[in-house]
Amino acid sequence: MSVLDEKLIPVYEEVLRRNPGEQEFHQAVHEVLDSLGPVVGKHPEYADAEVIRRICEPERQIIFRVPWVDDQGRVQINRGFRVEFNSSLGPYKGGLRFHPSVYLGIVKFLGFEQIFKNALTGMPIGGGKGGSDFDPKGHSDREVMRFCQSFMTELYRHIGEYTDVPAGDIGVGGREIGYLFGQYKRITNRYESGVLTGKGFTWGGSQVRTEATGYGTVFFVREILATRGEDFADRSVVVSGSGNVAIYAIQKVQQFGGRVIACSDSGGYVVDENGIDLELLREVKEVRRGRLTEYADLRGDKARHINDGSIWSVPCDIALPCATQNELNGRDADTLIKNGCSVVAEGANMPCTPEAVKAFSAAKVAFAPGKAANAGGVATSALEMQQNASRDSWSFEHTQERLADIMRNIHDRCLTTAEEYGVPGNYAAGANISGFTQVADAMLALGVI
Ligand code: GLU
Repeated sequence: MSVLDEKLIPVYEEVLRRNPGEQEFHQAVHEVLDSLGPVVGKHPEYADAEVIRRICEPERQIIFRVPWVDDQGRVQINRGFRVEFNSSLGPYKGGLRFHPSVYLGIVKFLGFEQIFKNALTGMPIGGGKGGSDFDPKGHSDREVMRFCQSFMTELYRHIGEYTDVPAGDIGVGGREIGYLFGQYKRITNRYESGVLTGKGFTWGGSQVRTEATGYGTVFFVREILATRGEDFADRSVVVSGSGNVAIYAIQKVQQFGGRVIACSDSGGYVVDENGIDLELLREVKEVRRGRLTEYADLRGDKARHINDGSIWSVPCDIALPCATQNELNGRDADTLIKNGCSVVAEGANMPCTPEAVKAFSAAKVAFAPGKAANAGGVATSALEMQQNASRDSWSFEHTQERLADIMRNIHDRCLTTAEEYGVPGNYAAGANISGFTQVADAMLALGVI
């Protein structure tokens, strides 16, 4: 890891001391502090009001027991989390992740990133995140429903359209949001659409919300390519993951004329030189909730499934890590660079390790960090909240247009800020500084709270 500005070292040390063992949270904080050197020089008022130290401490952290009964009649216990990190720009906003790896450190890293990501969208939303160590994979629909109902039976007292608005993340899609919303409605006796986003279109959801994170990432890359007078036509693209973000990133790349030649899941990756068959991929992943090995079997000779090694060894022009945190390390970055990759955009949250980011920057590979490149998901959640508040429902075209505009603005905002602070072309620094200064200015205006 690089050395921080000396004024920021005590802030980081305090984070390490207060949050022992939360490696992912430490990493996310370090990554932001690393960009703030030029900011503390220019703005002594932030240090005077201890804004950076305050931002690193969540406003509220909720941890709760989630008991539920499985199909065999046995009692199961999971742990639920909601970290309400920062509400200076609006109600806490951010997804819920259901995955066995979830613990407080993961929720805090995601919540911390969400503060700056949400600021970058230009929408009035604060930052938060939640989830559970429950794994929806391998459980029946009924079990997932009972788990979601139990989870909401505690969570409902902490959320609300003006307080905290959860949504999906890994392991939480339309099915889970439906069960969560149903239980919230039942407990509160309110049809409060704006309490959750990612709802189904027929019951208060927004067009494009399902597609938004993947589409937004590709819109962002389109802007990067445009700065070089290039576009997606005939570009080879590798997309890791095969969940919601990956699927819609693949779809938009294909619509823009690019060729997605590989994608992955936790069991390995497939290489499909003629281009991933998206219809088949969606059938396997969305309908059957199956594995990529099934995709490769059904695709016959056209695709190869590889169950060890790294997807990043597949040569490509553009890499879109859309799976999970720390999935692309320094070695992977070196391989991508050697193979001529010139753009990397994070569809997932923090998929590139600090060593990978350093390698990209040294090799002048354009690197778009998650808090900018994957902000389209939460931005469209804010559009869903807008539609709920006005009891309106917009068309697909209009909503997609709004999303594309938002991504263009984020892109331009990152570049302008990077230029202003003496790090031209550095999207990661531009995103951190721009998101941070917006939140910090609001915190100064609101007093020491
Ligand atoms: N989980 C998504 C993210 O990482 C979306 C959150 C939301 O829509 O609130 O930004």
